Amino acid sequence: MPNKIAFITGASSGIGMAIAKRFASEGINLILNARRLDRLEKLKLELESENQIKILLCPFDIRHKSEIETAISAIPDDWKDIYYLINNAGLASGLGNLHEGDIEDWEKMIDTNVKGLLYISRIILPGMVERKAGHVVNISSIAGKEVYANGNVYCASKFAVDALSRGMRIELSPHNVKVTSINPGAVETEFSIVRFHGDKERADKVYEGFDNLLAEDIADAAYYAISRPQRMNINEMIVMPTAQPVATIINRR
Ligand code: NAP
Repeated sequence: MPNKIAFITGASSGIGMAIAKRFASEGINLILNARRLDRLEKLKLELESENQIKILLCPFDIRHKSEIETAISAIPDDWKDIYYLINNAGLASGLGNLHEGDIEDWEKMIDTNVKGLLYISRIILPGMVERKAGHVVNISSIAGKEVYANGNVYCASKFAVDALSRGMRIELSPHNVKVTSINPGAVETEFSIVRFHGDKERADKVYEGFDNLLAEDIADAAYYAISRPQRMNINEMIVMPTAQPVATIINRR
């Protein structure tokens, strides 16, 4: 396949979908993952008709190691040289203090944001190391840099992503593989609807009265990172709304 291949997790919505659209417009072939296959199918139709690229769908739950192994081992040979791995799938579930926390919420976040990212990376990185070529982009969060009230386990999971990005960078540099971490502030996606367990009214309030980031802004940052010359690596980017100087302050109108 002449074009490079990107594997994007969490491509059925928000930042992952925006990255898929941006990369497609730049001629990158895509392997798209998420659990909601109907959305991925729709996106594949749209992007293949608008761009000269091919898309392979790889629907699975990144929390389930055996599902990942089965799906990735079934990838056809001409799709195996994955050049970009975009570890984007993730979520916050709940917003409350630790001493009253919901353990199911905690498990969901740790299993997706940390263990899921590890499972995918463990399968895809050996090929990059062998080929001495590749670029991993981990979508972390400002919550991986700053702790805010009631963010406890989500923040811990994103601090873990931050540590993993730094570790990967050290270990993959001798193999010519780049690692970038992108840490966004508030981006309007389905993130808050998921965090508040489907309560859309509460989710909408998060983005009221200020200009939040758009998923396209993060896709733009991701494309900037992957399109630098080989000698240059963007280690990390903290990308915030202008109205949100730090995690805990939002200047609303
Ligand atoms: P989103 O709109 O809710 O998208 C999340 C994506 O992750 C969806 O495509 C979802 O697809 C996928 N996903 C969730 N659990 C999964 C699982 N177990 N297996 C496979 N896919 C799974 O939220 P988003 O804002 O785009 O979030 C993307 C990333 O950005 C996350 O890592 C999030 O922590 C990070 N982030 C977001 C913000 C923000 O303000 N929005 C800020 C900083 C960082 P399915 O449900 O179809 O599986």
